[in-house]
Amino acid sequence: MEEKQKSEGKLLEEKLFNVRKCGWKDTSEEKVNMIMKFSDEYMYFLNKSKTEREVSVFAKEVLEKNGFKNVDDLDNISVGDKVYYINREKSVYAAIIGKNGLESGLNILGAHMDSPRLDLKPNPVYEDTGFAYFNTQYYGGIKKYQWTTIPLAIHGVIVKTNGEKVTLNIGEDENDPIFTITDLLPHLAAEQMKKSLSNGVEGEDLDLLVGSIPYNDESVSEKVKLNTLKLLNDKYGITEADFLSAELELVPAFKAKSLGFDSSMVAAYGQDDKVCCYTAMRALIDMKEIPEKTSILILADKEEIGSMGNTGMESQVFDNFIAELLTKAGINRPNLLNKVFCKSAMLSADVGSAYDPLYASVSDRKNVSYAGFGVSLNKYTGGRGKGGSSDAGAEFVGKIRNLFESNNILYQIDELGKVDAGGGGTIAYILADKGVDVIDCGVAVLSMHAPYEVTSKYDVYTTYEAYKAFLEQMK
Ligand code: MN
Ligand code: MN
Repeated sequence: MEEKQKSEGKLLEEKLFNVRKCGWKDTSEEKVNMIMKFSDEYMYFLNKSKTEREVSVFAKEVLEKNGFKNVDDLDNISVGDKVYYINREKSVYAAIIGKNGLESGLNILGAHMDSPRLDLKPNPVYEDTGFAYFNTQYYGGIKKYQWTTIPLAIHGVIVKTNGEKVTLNIGEDENDPIFTITDLLPHLAAEQMKKSLSNGVEGEDLDLLVGSIPYNDESVSEKVKLNTLKLLNDKYGITEADFLSAELELVPAFKAKSLGFDSSMVAAYGQDDKVCCYTAMRALIDMKEIPEKTSILILADKEEIGSMGNTGMESQVFDNFIAELLTKAGINRPNLLNKVFCKSAMLSADVGSAYDPLYASVSDRKNVSYAGFGVSLNKYTGGRGKGGSSDAGAEFVGKIRNLFESNNILYQIDELGKVDAGGGGTIAYILADKGVDVIDCGVAVLSMHAPYEVTSKYDVYTTYEAYKAFLEQMK
């Protein structure tokens, strides 16, 4: 059938309107296969890397396999060299030295490896009425009620006074036990159900159930606690006091899975911000040629609690890494680091909030990202009138648009919720403070910060393509 000729107005509309479209529409079968394959690799990474320490282990292995060397092991560096530095097992910096040299500025991809979770308190173990429990403190912005009655795994390290470090990962293997936090049965929850969602489950009640068999000795008062500690002592050689110097994190024991009859989405814990960690890392290692500008990858820690601490983005360790590169390239001099930052560009690789039709009222439909509609940019984050946001300049956003449009990368620019609905932040402002041009750019997520978050596989792949184009082509 012959296509009806388009009216003048229709043609003008196509030319002038900014119409967004679903990425799955008109995508070739070949491309869909690439998207699915990439997502399988991404889900493999997610299942191996639920904590910042585990992401850094994964990243180190991948970087070394792809020719990156520890910068501390090199006396000097030059064009084409691939280097990395890992800060206390919790933040990662990597670089490929570009053809134009370091002085011309850097193209930076910066993501964060930490995700909201529950941490064990320093004195976590107690017994109450036949049960042994671990007491927790939550990490990052969570809705507390979401963390009850789901399978939880314990990941992390315990460091003994002699320096010996025990690494724990219990609850992921098919044969491992899991742990959980109980909740009240609805039959007896009349009072609880009258409370608001924010205090229906109190933070102090997020205590992990870890055992119920008593130690067989009538002279001991806390028999279940003793039996639990004996099991831990037999297996790991630790005592209760060793929890004082431990970092143990409770994360959902769920595996990453394809979601939907069409398998178009990924459901997994910690996609904020491991989806950007993975896509940024892949963009770096998959580059075939030496880029003109130096490529930098940052995988930071502590973003979810304000980026403080010596592994957070606020610390000087990243600056030290770049200064080290300048020194080992033989060009360092006073003030050069600051100048390099002022000539640099960055995609703050973090997730955005995807439009959820079930909760439509929090979004301005014209200024929200849609899952499956491509990589998502946030010109500004913040709350209450852009408060706390670095707000990318129009010139820089224009350059990024040009980059994506010339590479046929489907993108959308949004804000985090409608005016005064709330807000949030990323590491963008920290690099902007140094003089870097920065915009937030990543994957839009449904159920962000929940134990099981949802992304579109189309967006995951498109974000990878966007990051790669940025590293390869950003002038
Ligand atoms: Mn994030
Ligand atoms: Mn977050």
